[in-house]
Amino acid sequence: MASKTLDQFLHDNLEDLKSRGLYNVIDPLESPNGPVIEIDGRELINLSSNNYLGLATDERLKEAALEAVQKYGVGAGAVRTINGTLSLHVQLEEKLAEFKNTEAAIAYQSGFNCNMAAISAVMDKNDAILSDELNHASIIDGCRLSKAKIIRFNHSDMDDLYAKAKEAKESGQYKKIMVITDGVFSMDGDIAKLPEIVEIANRFDLITYVDDAHGSGVLGKGAGTVKHFGLSDQVDFQIGTLSKAIGVVGGYVAGKKLLIDWLKVCSRPFLFSTALPPADVAACIKAIEILMSSTELHDKLWSNGRYLKKGLKELGFDIGESETPITPCIIGDEVLTQKFSRRLNEEGVYAKAIVFPTVPRGTGRVRNMPTAAHTQEMLDRVLSIYEKVGKEMGVI
Ligand SMILES: *Cc1c(COP(=O)(O)O)cnc(C)c1O
Repeated sequence: MASKTLDQFLHDNLEDLKSRGLYNVIDPLESPNGPVIEIDGRELINLSSNNYLGLATDERLKEAALEAVQKYGVGAGAVRTINGTLSLHVQLEEKLAEFKNTEAAIAYQSGFNCNMAAISAVMDKNDAILSDELNHASIIDGCRLSKAKIIRFNHSDMDDLYAKAKEAKESGQYKKIMVITDGVFSMDGDIAKLPEIVEIANRFDLITYVDDAHGSGVLGKGAGTVKHFGLSDQVDFQIGTLSKAIGVVGGYVAGKKLLIDWLKVCSRPFLFSTALPPADVAACIKAIEILMSSTELHDKLWSNGRYLKKGLKELGFDIGESETPITPCIIGDEVLTQKFSRRLNEEGVYAKAIVFPTVPRGTGRVRNMPTAAHTQEMLDRVLSIYEKVGKEMGVI
């Protein structure tokens, strides 16, 4: 018999979310997640994907995936440590290390999983983690799983980090101390202050951990935020995802061989969850080869990002302080933001509203993610729709 307590709990909480306008309705795509998508039979210019370089639909990746299916089938068949490690996985890890300019790398089933795996493989209840207050949910959950003491510092506030690192170190309470940050913060598009973070880490002997999910493929000519700052040999953990710019699925840690050897014997998702499927691995290898051989897609992403930003700014929109192609358009009021996004949708632009609690109250925004796959005509159309809706709603 189904639990009445559970039914009551679910019903009450769902109703509560709906009444506060926080219940997210999902719109399934009837097309690939490219620059133009189809939803409910309507075509929309897509500014909501993380498919930064358009690789999710790239013919070269599709071909590599199909070949891998023919050769290896559709599943890896086991966890990595039993016999689910295909030669393809090894190739991918070698490529990742080369791409990131590190001694070694280890691949996981997702970026989320990677944070579950890597933090708790090294940190435990005798340790402390200094964590930027705007870090991604998977970092927060990974930190919790480790049972280390979590010390949040104000977003990108280096004085606060310094003070908290000093206090943690001088307390003598912790065996190890780690500092964790996103490389690029996805809500505002700002970049972590890695040179300062590394300096503080050196001073207080902190382990450094950078989750570069939104930086890889985007910064450092594609190699990511750590490379962008020339700090490849000074960051212990470089985390990346294979599901954003790389366009497929999966996550990885790149770092010293000693670290990767350790993660291979004791990070739980590597030991207890089936390996990435061959098609995905082959597509990822192809994507990294493309990124390493040319900056064409990277350059197109940036020129599209600049074009969109310039256009929105000239129209009079507040686009915040983004340092990357991520382009928030800050509306402020939550209800107005939702309405703005709905009107854009009616006019043919798919750009999601992001409001409290994902971002601070009163800073509701429509977040635009231009990609290398957008054409200038598409972006011009976006700008004219923004202008129309912005004027109609009194935002500009
Ligand atoms: C998206 C994201 C993840 C999750 O990556 P997936 O591969 O989608 O699971 C992890 N960390 C950060 C910072 C992210 O932005």
